[in-house]
Amino acid sequence: MRIGIDFDNTIICYDKVFAAAARQRGLVPESWDGLKTELRDLLRSRAGGELAWQGLQGFVYGKGVCGAEIYPGVREFLTACRKAGASVYIVSHKTRFGHQDPERVDLREAARGWLRGAGLIDAADAALTVGNVYFEDTLAAKVERLARLELDIFIDDLVDVFEQPLFPKATRSILFTQSRPPHPAHCEPLATWADISRGVFA
Ligand SMILES: [Mg+2]
Repeated sequence: MRIGIDFDNTIICYDKVFAAAARQRGLVPESWDGLKTELRDLLRSRAGGELAWQGLQGFVYGKGVCGAEIYPGVREFLTACRKAGASVYIVSHKTRFGHQDPERVDLREAARGWLRGAGLIDAADAALTVGNVYFEDTLAAKVERLARLELDIFIDDLVDVFEQPLFPKATRSILFTQSRPPHPAHCEPLATWADISRGVFA
């Protein structure tokens, strides 16, 4: 079995880093807490909010990455992959630099550093190797990559990926989402990694 997984907001959870950075920049009150998507919607509803949102993303995906968490259940899923002898790949649409980051932090290096720190790559019992981690410049390149990898399953939090015209028909599409239906018919929406483990291995 060949399994591909998206990185941002699928393996790594930035909710707390986004909320903390927004509080620190005075974009929200000191008492504010919430999800990344709630913060995005809040900022975008304001004049100039899109720029503030992009600036926040530049920080969070670069320097802020060390404060990000792994979604519960990812480790267990990867252990199950290793036991099943499955090949696991990360395929992510991630540019090397953020749009609004004056410090020019290499986002891909930051992501690899986080994966190493979390023990997901380059560890003795890891299901992933650093050579199986792909960062692509565009969504189209991401889909091209995952098509070339001939994956049986791809797991992503963004429906856009599965809706790309060249997304391979033979690849089972698992949408990692807590959002309510309706979801596109060809996606399998699963809300937790425990659900994904059951869906893949049960
Ligand atoms: Mg994602």
